[in-house]
Amino acid sequence: KPMQGPSSNVERIFVSVRLRPLNEKEIARNDASDWECINETTIIYRNNLSVAERSMYPTAYTFDRVFSHDCTTRKVYEEGAKEVALSVVSGINSSVFAYGQTSSGKTYTMTGITEYSMADIYDYIDRHKEREFILKLSAMEIYNESVRDLLSTDSSPLRVLDDPEKGTIVEKLTEETLKNWSHFKELLSICEAQRQIGETSLNETSSRSHQILRLTMESSVREFFGNGTSCLAATVNFVDLAGSERASQALSAGTRLKEGCHINRSLLTLGTVIRKLSKGRSGHVPYRDSKLTRILQSSLGGNARTAIICTLSPARIHVEQSRNTLLFASCAK
Ligand code: ADP
Ligand code: MG
Repeated sequence: KPMQGPSSNVERIFVSVRLRPLNEKEIARNDASDWECINETTIIYRNNLSVAERSMYPTAYTFDRVFSHDCTTRKVYEEGAKEVALSVVSGINSSVFAYGQTSSGKTYTMTGITEYSMADIYDYIDRHKEREFILKLSAMEIYNESVRDLLSTDSSPLRVLDDPEKGTIVEKLTEETLKNWSHFKELLSICEAQRQIGETSLNETSSRSHQILRLTMESSVREFFGNGTSCLAATVNFVDLAGSERASQALSAGTRLKEGCHINRSLLTLGTVIRKLSKGRSGHVPYRDSKLTRILQSSLGGNARTAIICTLSPARIHVEQSRNTLLFASCAK
């Protein structure tokens, strides 16, 4: 099924689900997968459910695309993210998200998708000699509603501000102009190192923090460089979300959002924003309720394009979380 074209005026979000394979630990303890992708769009739960359970939970879920445990990240990228990510070359903002519980494969998936996207963007640049391009990269982490620069060794929180001209900005966020592919890889490793430093000092942040890798692309026809009429500029965000387990725990326990529970604020607000957007333009979209949605506002909704890859653990012990993830995915559609 082709993705929604950029000219479509319906705000629809491309939602896919990726089932990871059982890992060695799961195999060692005789865990088993009860999930099966029966075709390109449907995933089913085929354990022997009791009659009561069967009435409580759907056993088949349909999305724009489902990727079985043996699909490569290349395929997930090509069929679940490429079109959205590469809309940046046409001057259209976009966001690609990985959503799922901790250990379901978000980072694995997003790392691959980011690299494939960048490689395709560089390939596009090579094939368009008539234009001049500028690529800029930023990276940030949102932990407890506090924003940190992942390209700087200064880890003090950054302020999110409203600029009358630029809209929402992250004050003092590093923006590196990319020189080439190896410079990009170099920045990625700085980003990874900064992320790990935070992880050690804050205890398991990777499951509680959101990471945004943001690429801005500007281009103009060479002869008219500097002539505003031929300029294009857009941003693509690669977002590795915090583990969804806490958000769904909070939801099911009816916990109030409070201090120390901020992780949920960004994730829950994103859920609300995405549900609203997937239902069309009407009504108030609460972008301003969290740092994540404020920062991503210009790359969500409106003319912007969104792809969400929901990652799923196949393990039997994770079935509740997997159901929650599929519920989120269904609401995003
Ligand atoms: P998350 O970021 O959601 O916590 P990770 O991406 O770190 O999860 O994945 C957890 C582990 O599972 C990692 O060791 C990763 O390499 C592995 N993994 C995840 N998805 C896949 C996959 N599709 N194929 C093979 N290994 C995977
Ligand atoms: Mg991760």
